Formats: sequence, C-alpha cells, structure tokens
Amino acid sequence: MVRIKRLLAAIGIVAIVFAYSGLAFASEGAGISPDEALTKLVDGNKRFIEGKQAQKDLSDNKRTELTKGQQPFAVVLSCSDSRVPPEHIFDVGLGEIFVVRVAGTVADPIELGSVEYAIEHLGSPLILVLGHQSCGAVKATVAGGKPEGNIGAILKKIAPAVKKAKIKVKDKDKLLDAAILENTKGTASALTEKSSIIKHHVETKKVKIAAGVYNLATGKVELVDATLASKDGSENAAPHEHTHTHADAGQYNHQEGI
Ligand SMILES: [Zn+2]
Repeated sequence: MVRIKRLLAAIGIVAIVFAYSGLAFASEGAGISPDEALTKLVDGNKRFIEGKQAQKDLSDNKRTELTKGQQPFAVVLSCSDSRVPPEHIFDVGLGEIFVVRVAGTVADPIELGSVEYAIEHLGSPLILVLGHQSCGAVKATVAGGKPEGNIGAILKKIAPAVKKAKIKVKDKDKLLDAAILENTKGTASALTEKSSIIKHHVETKKVKIAAGVYNLATGKVELVDATLASKDGSENAAPHEHTHTHADAGQYNHQEGI
C-alpha cells in the first residue's frame, strides 16, 4: 500500500513537471527559431506558387482549440492591398501568422505596437515586412500632389523612400519598383529604430527581421536584405534570390548598422 502511494506520488510529480513544461513551452510561442520560421514562410510561398497548398484545418475542433490562445510563428507586416493576402501567399492556416496590414506597408506607433504585442506576448520569433509590386500607396507618393483626407499621412511616411529611390534610379520606368523596395527596407529599419522593445528582442536574438517584395504575377516573395537599408543610399538595391536553407535565411537578418 505504501508502495502504491509512493508510486502515485511519483506519477503526480511527473504530471506536474509535464504540465509546467507545457506552460513554459506555451509562453515561448511557436517553439521554433527565427530561421525556421522564415523557412516555413518561404516553403509556404513555394507551395502557393506551385498551387500545391497544404490541407488547412478549419474545423470546429481547430477553432475551439484556438480559443485557448495563439502562438503565431511569424508576424507579417504587409500592405492592405486585396491582392496581397499573407495567409494565402504563405499558405498558412488559422493561428499561424500574426498579420498587421496597412496601406503602403508603413510603420507608425499603432503598427509598431501591434508588432511589439506579437513578439512580446505571443512569442513570435520572426517579423517579415512585405512590400509588393504595383503598390498604389507608393505609386501615389511617386506621382506627388495633394491627396484627400487622411491618405496624406500614409504618403508622408512613404515620401523618404521615394526620395532615396530617386537618388539611386534615374530611369523613370524603374522608379516605382525602386521606391517600393526602399519603402519595404525603410519600414524594416523603422522597426528597430522606433521601437526599443523590438530592438531589444532583435539584439537578444529572440527575434529576426526579414523583408520581402511580393510579385503580383508570379506569386513569389523575393526576400531582400533588410540590412541594406542604410542611410547613405550607396548599396545595391536589387532584390536577390532566396534559397531554402537556414544558413541563407540568416543572411536576411536585420542586424546592427541599420
Ligand atoms: Zn500596396
């Protein structure tokens, strides 16, 4: 009888330890590294391009399970454009990514606060800033003029990127693409420049920042080096091809010097 009691006590302790580690795991968010999170997005984008989308669990059970909480593996800060829905582009289901969408992919305090919430309270290890081809907000900024209502506030945020692009690119036909790229990288830079919380998470290597530009026609997200968003405007502005390895994923990290 004593033996049984001891055994039950031991089982109880083991159960408590498991319950505790389960709790600890939950507080660490998705439980994957920033590079693994980027690879997941890249792989999902590949499935989307190829039309080989994974089966999504959209059942009652899944919804019920998610009422307990969320651990999104990535934050995606993207444009509101109806042609650029991150869940489709990265082929993810319910509860997988935390999406902040705003016309022109800009980062004001409200967007920054949303990102801060996801990395600090939900434990997301990756932030992807996503610009896209033919972005209307960037187009309007390039065109100039006085927009109606509050739209001017968005264009004002994009204006420095257009200015940078004009210095780099003299060909008028290439100006919009260059401005979109500069705006995407500028927003990636703003994350650490304007938020001490994001900066801290990046410096302590809990979080990485990546940036990409979505091609409307091909469906591909071309990752760009967020570290190139320096202020002197001398670096190569071309997006480069991404391959699916963790080592490569690391090179898109947003590091010091931005
Ligand atoms: Zn847009």
